[in-house]
Amino acid sequence: MANPMVDDAREIKEVNPFESMMSRFDRAAQLLNLDPDLYNVLRVPNREIKVYIPVRMDSGRLEVFEGYRVQHNFARGPAKGGIRYAPDVSLDEVRALAAWMTWKCAVVNVPFGGGKGGIICDPIQMSQGELERMTRRYTAELIDFIGPEKDVPAPDMNTNEQTMAWIMDTYSMHARHTVTGVVTGKPVQLGGSAGRREATGRGLLFCINEAMKRLKMTPPQTRVVVQGSGNVGGIGAELLHESGYKVVALSDIHGGIYNPDGLDIPEAMKHLRATRSLEDFPGAERVSNTDLLEIECEVLAPCATENQITSQNANRINCKVLAEGANGPTTAAADEILHDNGVFVIPDILANAGGVTVSYFEWVQDRMGYFWREAVVNERLQEVMVASFNDVAKYADTHGVDTRTAAYMLAIDRVAYDTRMRGIYA
Ligand code: NAD
Repeated sequence: MANPMVDDAREIKEVNPFESMMSRFDRAAQLLNLDPDLYNVLRVPNREIKVYIPVRMDSGRLEVFEGYRVQHNFARGPAKGGIRYAPDVSLDEVRALAAWMTWKCAVVNVPFGGGKGGIICDPIQMSQGELERMTRRYTAELIDFIGPEKDVPAPDMNTNEQTMAWIMDTYSMHARHTVTGVVTGKPVQLGGSAGRREATGRGLLFCINEAMKRLKMTPPQTRVVVQGSGNVGGIGAELLHESGYKVVALSDIHGGIYNPDGLDIPEAMKHLRATRSLEDFPGAERVSNTDLLEIECEVLAPCATENQITSQNANRINCKVLAEGANGPTTAAADEILHDNGVFVIPDILANAGGVTVSYFEWVQDRMGYFWREAVVNERLQEVMVASFNDVAKYADTHGVDTRTAAYMLAIDRVAYDTRMRGIYA
């Protein structure tokens, strides 16, 4: 007889992002026959920093926020990864995201390790002044641990160019000179890179284009469903539409819109920017985020948040290609079901790696003090994404594994090689 306590525990375990990352890591490590010493080093982060951040709120009251920075690995270069502000940030989540960054940087072969940061706060309820004070004090607490050679943060959920400009300025005040390379995702005028804002969506497009070639499909025949309409989903949908794909559904946190004949994406995005909602967009029906995932389509692109495709709904996913714009949208239990159903998965550590690739370009440009034209950035991004997609697909074919396992194996193998060559300082 089913035991509800055990079922609950299984469900909680399934959606824990760290467990999710570890189960993929373990499978790939086992298939690689990874040396036990390397396994023990690579399965844990290099460093976890917890900080308490006092902030004078506009009301005059002092509030103390809890924040983290996890530096997962430095074998291939400085740690690299975003900072998110949200009420449900946890150390486990940040730890998983930091490890994903290590594997992501290795998949696209950029010379970075993985890191991630977060602060438990409700940014929607905070004023610009409160956000600025919190960001500056968080940066001051991390001052010895970040820097162009050490750890280079970037935006993530609820942080943006402005947040990066505050971090860059605070770090520079302490260094007594301007250090643009301490963060990426800055405004272009302050050492940011042309094309960075669109880079994750553009990288997703390049991956989908490659998958289409493999499956012998063309954009006009391809119906795409996009969950999330922020930096990744919104820009991704615009670029897909521009490239001739038929984007039939799009959503934000409140729900989505659907038109089987294709949505006018530029108009939908205009509507979203003007009204801050997709609701009431003419010529489309409303659809919930749960139902949106089950719409029949050729490409499903979850670009919002974690754990959207689980063992509960994986059997009802009705696409040929799953292009993971978000980090961790699919649980490990769902992977098996999708695999059995023949879904071609472009795993997150590949599909959304366009962002970190152009972050790498930004860091390079800051260090050179010489900035590239947007066309050059996009061309170099395309080169990296196409090569990485084909590396992963070839690895999967050669080793007879699914594409997610292939991406992990490729990444772990690269990090393990560098760690072995450097030697473990034990
Ligand atoms: P964003 O804040 O710009 O947009 C998030 C979108 O998802 C919004 O439309 C929001 O309304 C929607 N959303 C949030 N929670 C939702 C929920 N529970 N259900 C449905 N929709 C929801 O964030 P973003 O930068 O686009 O990031 C989205 C995902 O992509 C995250 O997983 C992030 O870690 C990942 N990612 C982002 C980048 C980047 O460069 N921005 C790079 C790599 C990975």
